[in-house]
Parts: sequence; structure tokens; C-alpha cells
Amino acid sequence: MANESQPMFRSAGAARPANAPRHVGVIGAGIVGICCALYLQRDGLRVTVIDRGPPGEGTSKGNAAIIAGASCEPVAMPGIVWRVPGMLMDPLGPLAIRWSYLPQLAPWLLKFVAASAPSRVELISKALRALSLEAVPAFKTLMREAGIMDMLREDGWLSVYRSDKSFAGAQHELELSRQNNVKMEILGQHELRQMEPTLAPDFKHGVLYPEHAHTVNNFRLVQELARHFVNRGGRVVQEEVLGFRKGPDGPTHILTGAGEHAIDAVVLAAGAWSKRLTKMLGHRVPLDTERGYHVMLPNPAVMPRRPIHIGDYGFVATPLEHGLRFAGTVELGGLDLPPNYDRARVLLERGRTVFPGLKEEGKTEWMGFRPSVPDSVPVISGGHFDNCFFAYGHGHLGLTYGAITGRLIADLVANRATGFDMGPYRVDRRW
Ligand SMILES: Cc1cc2nc3c(=O)[nH]c(=O)nc-3n(C[C@H](O)[C@H](O)[C@H](O)COP(=O)(O)OP(=O)(O)OC[C@H]3O[C@@H](n4cnc5c(N)ncnc54)[C@H](O)[C@@H]3O)c2cc1C
Repeated sequence: MANESQPMFRSAGAARPANAPRHVGVIGAGIVGICCALYLQRDGLRVTVIDRGPPGEGTSKGNAAIIAGASCEPVAMPGIVWRVPGMLMDPLGPLAIRWSYLPQLAPWLLKFVAASAPSRVELISKALRALSLEAVPAFKTLMREAGIMDMLREDGWLSVYRSDKSFAGAQHELELSRQNNVKMEILGQHELRQMEPTLAPDFKHGVLYPEHAHTVNNFRLVQELARHFVNRGGRVVQEEVLGFRKGPDGPTHILTGAGEHAIDAVVLAAGAWSKRLTKMLGHRVPLDTERGYHVMLPNPAVMPRRPIHIGDYGFVATPLEHGLRFAGTVELGGLDLPPNYDRARVLLERGRTVFPGLKEEGKTEWMGFRPSVPDSVPVISGGHFDNCFFAYGHGHLGLTYGAITGRLIADLVANRATGFDMGPYRVDRRW
């Protein structure tokens, strides 16, 4: 994507204005906020990150650790509409809706279904692919500077299918990947056994995606990057953001439970909690959450060589430095309902059939809130105030797109050309 076909809120490439920001407040210390902070700091700006908790304790804490350099698929693929009734009926299925949340979710769900139209999916996949191509390089820049390149693994990932039916069901995704020039290698049963001997022998089909990478510990990654940010003079403040004090040209202060912070510009990277603060900055976004679960096995006795996506059940098994993690499932249930850990137990039940000999002692469970917009395309954008920037809505791929989001936000703050067509990521796009 070489041109800026839709202008951002300021004219791209224009000289840095005299009132260019010097001090930027970043709201949110998840992977996205910390990467934004680091890229802004690289530009010589003073940066304060504000989060109600320590870095990485939100959704970035428990994901599947994949930096999905080959990703280009939205969640709402053509035909999703026929799955909605099943989502309502099976609370433990890979995609489920909590009944009590349905009235609140309805507007988001309608937009989600609309985004699954084939013509839209084609455009969406291009916007996602543009990000994923830069995802691993953008991380390498930060990880190299932080001295943590040993946390990155570039072994690809494997999608595996037990049944012909599941593999047939994946053909649409494979076709979309082919259209986007994603590198793939189709594998048969024998090759799968050679490549991943820990896998149950009845998996018949596999697809290797060599462009995917992963980190050996996604939570430690945020912590290490945050430490690097602080070592280079950045500030991390543990306070709840409540709102903004605004002047005629935009916010001048971020208001928190403990006081206020004078800023020249603000980057909102509060993950699934960004909607209310976005509204205060003058925009409405259809942001909701796809809740996801994981089970962590510290001593699993069996360890795959690389992350494996189990296509039949829709979850990922990732080898981490502190054990094996099964992560996935989507539950549409908002930010307030209690977790349903039966969903994590289902992951474990299925995992047992995938990895014979699995040991479960010391297992832990976790739930997190993916920040999700209906079309799966993250918001990476300026706003109608020149000094407001938005970086959230990364859904299933917030780790993947964390570093490239940081790079793009720094470009937008500096009013530099990004090299991307930023139209698809705008906060005010047609939802
Ligand atoms: C089960 C599961 C598996 C996943 N696997 C992957 C994967 O393998 N690869 C991938 O790329 N993505 C994956 N994801 C998605 C990824 O984890 C998220 O997209 C990503 O963590 C979002 O990062 P973030 O920084 O936007 O949000 P968060 O990590 O949630 O950070 C937002 C921060 O904002 C803070 N905050 C919010 N409101 C306020 C406020 N008012 N005041 C102060 N602070 C505030 C929160 O405390 C939080 O720390 C997965 C998600 C789940 C649930």
C-alpha cells in the first residue's frame, strides 16, 4: 500500500506544525499502548503512559502469543450469518453469545454480519494484510533495541484438521490467503507426524504458515518493553483515566482519579475499554468485546515444536517458556458479565485428545477481553481534534499488530507519511 489515498485529518506529509506535540499521554499499557509509547519516544517526544494497572495486565496478559505475520482474515467471514443461531444455542461452542447480553450487542452484531459480505471481506483482508506484512519487522525494531530478540521465535504456525469436513470448511480462508499472497505449505498426514510428533496421529490435513512468528512469553514481552521505555526516560503512571480537560483545539489535560496530567497530544490505547473515552474525544465507535479464554499447563509433558491451530475446534496450542497454553474461543458477552470457565475446561478436554500423554498438574485458567470492532480492522487514526489519536480495536490480533500500530501512530503524531493507505483504519470510517 504505497499511497495515502484518503487524507487523514491533517494533510499527510505537511511540515510539522509549530505547535507540534512535545509531551504525549498514552492511555493504556497493554501491548498496543506500550508499542505506541516506544515509537513516540524514538521520535524524541516526552511520553507518559497512564494505566489503572501495571503494564500488560489487561488482555495482553493471556493471549496465544502469536505474531501472525500471515494474517488477513476477518472474524466475520461470508456465511457467518448462518452460524449466529448456533452461537446462541451452544454456550460452550467455539463462538457463543451470552443471551442476557444480546439486546446490547444487537447493533454491533448487525454490523458484524454486514461486514461479512464477500465484497467487504476482500477489502478488509487487504487492510489486514498490509498490517501483517509489517508486523514482525516492526516488532524486531523494538525487541532489538530492548535487547530481547531471544523472546521471538520465527518457526511459523501450523493449522491442523482431523476431519475432511473441517478442512473443507477452511477452504474459503485458504483462498483468501492465496489471494493475498500469503505463504503456505499444504501438508498431509505423514508430513504432519514428522513435523509434530506430539500430535495425535489421526490429524489428516495441515497448513504451515511460515510468516507467523510467536513470542515465548507475551506478558513478559509487554513488561520488558515497558521496562525499556522507562529506562529510556519514559513515565508509567498507575491511575484510572476518567476524562479530559479540553480547550478549543482539543484536550489539554488527561483527568485521572489522582489528579490531572498536562499533555500536548493524547493516544487512546485502552483496548476494550476505549469506547467511552473515544466518545469524550468526539467520535462514536462500535467497539465491543470478544471474550476469550486460556488454560495454562506449566508441566505438560508434551510440547509441540511450534504453535498449532486446531482447525476442528478453533483454538491454538502455543509452546511458551513457562508451559503449554491452549487459547481461543469467542464469547460475546460484554465487559461486565462474570467469566464462564466451563469454556476454558472445554479447551482442556479437546486438548487432551490432540496431545496424548498431556499432564495437567498446576493448570490455571484465564479470561480476557479482545477489543473488537465489527469488521476486525483496528482503529489506527487521528481524530477531528489535531492532537487526538486512536489505537485500539485489534480484536484477535492485538499482539500481532501492536508494534506496527505504534509505528503508524508515531507517523501520524509527527504528521509524516505512513506509506499506508490509512483510510480503512480511520475512527470515522463508515461502520
Ligand atoms: C484468548 C485470547 C487469545 C489471543 N491470542 C492472540 C494471539 O495469539 N495473537 C494476537 O495478535 N492477539 C491475540 N489476542 C488478542 C490480543 O490479546 C488483544 O488484541 C491485545 O492484547 C489488545 O491489546 P491492547 O493493548 O489494545 O489492550 P489491553 O492489553 O487490554 O490493554 C488496555 C489497557 O488499558 C487499560 N485501561 C483501560 N481503560 C482505562 C482507563 N480508563 N484508565 C486507565 N487505564 C485503562 C487497561 O487496564 C489495560 O491495561 C488474543 C486474545 C485472547 C482473549
